[in-house]
Amino acid sequence: MASMPEVDVAVVGAGVAGLAAALAFQAHGAEVFVVDASDRPGGVMRTDHVRGYVVERGPNTIEVKVPMLAVLRDQGLEDALRKAEPASKHRFILRDGVLVAAPSSPFSLLGTSLLGPGGKLRLLAEPLLPRRDASDESVSEFITRRLGRQVADRLVGPFLTGVYAGDERELGAEAVFGTLVDWERRLGSVLLGALAAAFSRRSERGLRGVYSTTEGLGPFARHLAERLHEPPALGATVRTLRREGTAWHLSVSTEAGGDTTLRAGRVVLAVPSLAAAALLRESDARVAELLEDIDYAPIVGVPLGVARSQLSHEVRGFGFLVPRETGEAAGMDLLGCLFMSQLFPGRAPADHELLQCILGGVRRRDIIDEPDDRIVERTLQDLDPVLGIGGEPAVLGVTRWPRAIPQPGRAHVRRMNEVGTRVGALPGLALAGSYVAGVGVADSFASGLRAAEDLVRPL
Ligand SMILES: Cc1cc2nc3c(=O)[nH]c(=O)nc-3n(C[C@H](O)[C@H](O)[C@H](O)COP(=O)(O)OP(=O)(O)OC[C@H]3O[C@@H](n4cnc5c(N)ncnc54)[C@H](O)[C@@H]3O)c2cc1C
Repeated sequence: MASMPEVDVAVVGAGVAGLAAALAFQAHGAEVFVVDASDRPGGVMRTDHVRGYVVERGPNTIEVKVPMLAVLRDQGLEDALRKAEPASKHRFILRDGVLVAAPSSPFSLLGTSLLGPGGKLRLLAEPLLPRRDASDESVSEFITRRLGRQVADRLVGPFLTGVYAGDERELGAEAVFGTLVDWERRLGSVLLGALAAAFSRRSERGLRGVYSTTEGLGPFARHLAERLHEPPALGATVRTLRREGTAWHLSVSTEAGGDTTLRAGRVVLAVPSLAAAALLRESDARVAELLEDIDYAPIVGVPLGVARSQLSHEVRGFGFLVPRETGEAAGMDLLGCLFMSQLFPGRAPADHELLQCILGGVRRRDIIDEPDDRIVERTLQDLDPVLGIGGEPAVLGVTRWPRAIPQPGRAHVRRMNEVGTRVGALPGLALAGSYVAGVGVADSFASGLRAAEDLVRPL
């Protein structure tokens, strides 16, 4: 690695949050130096080619929200995006052993067989209910109070399994469904808010549907990194961060064994919360304590390749999720399965399907410690009754992420407000990443842009 320069801006972490922050600084003419401990940019965005399959190891699909879309357009990267096939809007929930279509819009809630007549009536009564303060409620409490238990357990719970690998009883309403909480606060009703949003201008929401690139999300991250004038320094771990005089001093260890110090006027920490806590302990022990307490869900990914002729059930649509109650009742470890080759044809050899099975989450934290063969065995045991797999599928590697997805609980918004105030008092420092304000790729990206915007003004 080249010797460490003295720079305007250091971005620690070349995941999507760090790359977004670096691109935003660069657009303002700042000199940016990005360091990452890993051997490639993209953080958890990783794609492998295995036996003719294109296998995601981290995120599988992304939403393209407005702030990200604007940057991709500026960087000439919008054309690299590939929208998932139209069938991807059909998502399924496992109920009583069969896959039931999940409602795809507020209007289709009334037609879904996932809710009984009582559940639908309860849902429709929502605008008549008095409003209350939801800031201390879990998602489950909030949704049950507003929309009824059936909606909470049968629709929202599985959705949160898909996004957070989390538990609706622990996740905080305000952190996870801030927009819905705000609709209740302002309009007195979540349903009225949803209706108003359905008729609002779509252009304000970014691209519709979910996306990747033809080659997957690892290459997408690489394309972003290639837009930087100075490539990220890889294999470089920031060990300490200290304010000295008017600059931040970062001590960096490189894989080659060299230690060096980087001086930067401004620093974005775009690393997971534990790493940020370790780096901030010296500057503000309270911030370190607050960040350290953020829980993450583990995820185990088991991609399987299977000949279509081996499947006795049709594989179509986005994939399916296993609701908590169904999973617990049946003793399942599987949280869900994405039909990746249906979303993005070309991800599997001809006449084959690529199934991305997800296990673990807060529901089965311990599975991450099981050996690969046991994990594969559990996956097939859970998957077989649903898809009817005859013969042996190709196991395309087991991926373990011990701290995959942050779990914003009831106190998360308060926690992050306190963190924001305290970090705001540290000159030239900002935080970005999936624990800051939303766990998806697009949210992490947006947090990187915001971090840069917060710091760029005084440049
Ligand atoms: C298995 C899995 C599946 C997911 N599925 C989806 C999905 O389908 N759709 C979606 O939108 N989101 C999904 N997510 C979430 C999304 O991928 C992440 O929220 C997002 O990519 C996080 O980006 P980040 O830049 O904040 O962090 P990361 O990608 O974690 O990047 C942080 C970087 O910081 C570096 N780093 C850490 N400490 C140091 C240090 N001290 N010095 C230098 N570098 C350091 C790391 O090496 C890493 O590269 C998924 C996440 C996982 C793990």
